[in-house]
Amino acid sequence: MTMQADSLTAPAPDAPRVSEPRPSQSRPSLAGLTREALAERLGAIGVPERELRMRVGQIWQWLYGRGATDFASMSNVSKDLRAQLAEHFTLARPEVVSEQISRDGTRKWLLRMAPTGPLDRGAEIEVVYIPEADRGTLCVSSQVGCTLNCTFCHTGTQKLVRNLSAAEIVGQLLVARDRLRDYPGQQPGRASRFVTNIVFMGMGEPLYNLDNARDAIAVMSDAEGLQLSRRRITVSTSGVVPEIARLGAETNTMLAISLHATNDELRNELVPINRKYPIAELLDACRAYPGVSNARRITFEYVMLKGVNDSLAEAKALVRLLKGIPAKINLIPFNPWPGSRYECSDWEQIERFSDYVFNAGYSSPVRTPRGRDILAACGQLKSETEKLRARARLMLEEQLALSSE
Ligand code: SAH
Ligand code: SF4
Repeated sequence: MTMQADSLTAPAPDAPRVSEPRPSQSRPSLAGLTREALAERLGAIGVPERELRMRVGQIWQWLYGRGATDFASMSNVSKDLRAQLAEHFTLARPEVVSEQISRDGTRKWLLRMAPTGPLDRGAEIEVVYIPEADRGTLCVSSQVGCTLNCTFCHTGTQKLVRNLSAAEIVGQLLVARDRLRDYPGQQPGRASRFVTNIVFMGMGEPLYNLDNARDAIAVMSDAEGLQLSRRRITVSTSGVVPEIARLGAETNTMLAISLHATNDELRNELVPINRKYPIAELLDACRAYPGVSNARRITFEYVMLKGVNDSLAEAKALVRLLKGIPAKINLIPFNPWPGSRYECSDWEQIERFSDYVFNAGYSSPVRTPRGRDILAACGQLKSETEKLRARARLMLEEQLALSSE
């Protein structure tokens, strides 16, 4: 699925923003809701209690199994109910503000969420799809921005922060399946989907929004709908220790830990939540993670920062630290962003580090940078409005500086 450079679709940040209310503002969307939430909405418009289960089941299959975008196509739902549904609801997805396709096939969508109130113009988030030979991974966001301030992460510098609802998290998968024509019922003969894996590695800390992440995972993994395997869903956390056990118990997904340092002093600096939940407590929570075994290893992410955490001594310390935990180590070349204070380790150093870890018995893939030409890599996600605001601020400052000269 390699694309030519000229197929890059540039975002249109300067295009005027739509000001009229969109349909989704007046009629709420049902897309992304759980079975319980769907039943509640149907009950509220008068669908009788005894019919609820069946109606939810029907809508569920159209929406998640086949990717329906309107009620008119739901041929096994009575005409009257279809009309009633259309009068009150839509099946609108988050709005796609821009789509960028990298030379390597990686796609990045900038999505605008439906406004939550009269003053809200709609929060924006980014979603990335990474096709590989044996899988297709969708990197989803759990929050707009992030309240934690890991010093190497661009998202952490974003001021605007709110939790995404479960429907908004599921909405990211719906957009990807819409764009890729990838619903199970659309291509019944095809052995595998384009999106086979989900990683919660976009914007935000999923364990600060666990209830919504859990509900979203339930919808994404439903066998009669979107059909993703829970073993192919990975939730990455910076280390919110008290929520790790609940994540395992309530979602049964794979766990990834953003470790990045082997001692508390350095981790306090890089991942400040470490001051609250230090490494020893974090690793205890990992050892106790439900279902952890050699077949279900925990991924430890380790960003390679030149001269900061990339020495051979640290590779040794890492191996010592993880002894006894069924683990995979994922080395991530640091992705610089404008204004970041770190540099990525030299390639030879990454290889030395990786070789040591590999020889100690760990699978240690170095995450190949993907979609670099469209800034789609980990830690670079930051909403377009924030970037635009920053640009506008800069222009204003320049004007002020000029006028005071
Ligand atoms: N908040 C969660 C999940 C989102 S971040 C977490 O921190 O785990 C997903 C991964 O990208 C984390 O491992 C994070 O540490 C890493 N990351 C953040 N900024 C990065 C950057 N600039 N370069 C490389 N990796 C980065
Ligand atoms: Fe938040 Fe994760 Fe970025 Fe840290 S690395 S600021 S927890 S998104």
